Amino acid sequence: MNEILNRSINEMAQTEFDCECGRHHVFDVHDLAIGPGVIQKLPEFCEPFRDGVLEIVYDQNTYRVAGKEAVRLLKDAGFQYKELAFDSGDDILIPDESVVGRVLEEQDKNVSLMVAIGGGSINDSVKYVSSRTKVPYIIVGTTPSMDGYLADGAPLINNGRKFSYYADLAYGAICDTDIMKDAPMDLIMAGFGDVVGKITAIPDWDLSVKEVNEYRCDTSVELVRRAMNKCFTSSSKLKDRDPDAIMDLIEALMMTGVAMAWVRLSRPASGAEHMLSHYWEMDFIARGLNPNHHGTQVGVATPVIAEIYEELADILPEETKALCPSRLEIEKLLRDAGHPVSPKDIGISRELFYRSLMEGCTVRPRYSILMFAKEHGRLEQVAKKITNRIYGEE
Ligand SMILES: [Zn+2]
Ligand SMILES: [Zn+2]
Repeated sequence: MNEILNRSINEMAQTEFDCECGRHHVFDVHDLAIGPGVIQKLPEFCEPFRDGVLEIVYDQNTYRVAGKEAVRLLKDAGFQYKELAFDSGDDILIPDESVVGRVLEEQDKNVSLMVAIGGGSINDSVKYVSSRTKVPYIIVGTTPSMDGYLADGAPLINNGRKFSYYADLAYGAICDTDIMKDAPMDLIMAGFGDVVGKITAIPDWDLSVKEVNEYRCDTSVELVRRAMNKCFTSSSKLKDRDPDAIMDLIEALMMTGVAMAWVRLSRPASGAEHMLSHYWEMDFIARGLNPNHHGTQVGVATPVIAEIYEELADILPEETKALCPSRLEIEKLLRDAGHPVSPKDIGISRELFYRSLMEGCTVRPRYSILMFAKEHGRLEQVAKKITNRIYGEE
């Protein structure tokens, strides 16, 4: 297997190689810094853009935890900059057309670089504008809540619906573990849930290789698997904000980003568990409710998908089946970390849950265990059985 798998996350910037899968993989994020105190590297990363104005984007929460320090560092280093502050009050910032529009509207003509300070919402909004205006951006992450910092997509809300737009990767990423370890615990847990989702994303990819002859890269699967397993060895200490456990979590999220960038697909990160999560989220948004965090939904969806694998064991290819751990093992992993375990725990109703199993495969045109169950005429029976187990017989 490729030596690149032995590199640390900080050594992954600007890497490219010819892979055993037959493709040439490129990860062209220019600068990466993950670890304690690394926010200090921000001026160094911004140096190539000194001739123009830096646009620093944050909200009231991210300013407090990282924005203030970032502004101080850039000011002391003599950069010209302007600040764009969002304030969503007690609500979380929703990355919709008004947020994206404001980032675009306030982009100065002579801006050379945008500096996004935040988690999913700010990163996705700035990433989208950066990609469309060809002004690069650096993300200073504030929460280890999802694997989107290094993903080439920007999930945004438009007219009340969620779309995942194509958007280029960041020029650089800084994830200071001293900052991230103090993130709200529900966001740390959400990040963990997103890592747990890789457990079923991997067999789903294998299934699609076997059933519909999809391309796969074993090097990226192995990269995700190693990072995920390392994260699982320390995840029971996340609830204590153990610095090493937080570092393993961030590394797993970032390595998944590297794997996605190599193959230019979200396959290494996302399978049927993500389809359930997207389905639930769209339902919440359509009803005007605040959805759960992405990763939290992915986390509780993962043992459900593993249960479908168990139910279909008699017709699944042997090798694929062997790739999926049992529902109980995954539930234990979630419970030990302090993560919700059941869809019931996070407000998913019986009706929505059943419907998501039946219709989840329509969320995106991607082969998964849900489509496999449907094609074999087993989906309805399995969906009823799992719904009854979780919510009780009707
Ligand atoms: Zn995810
Ligand atoms: Zn490959």
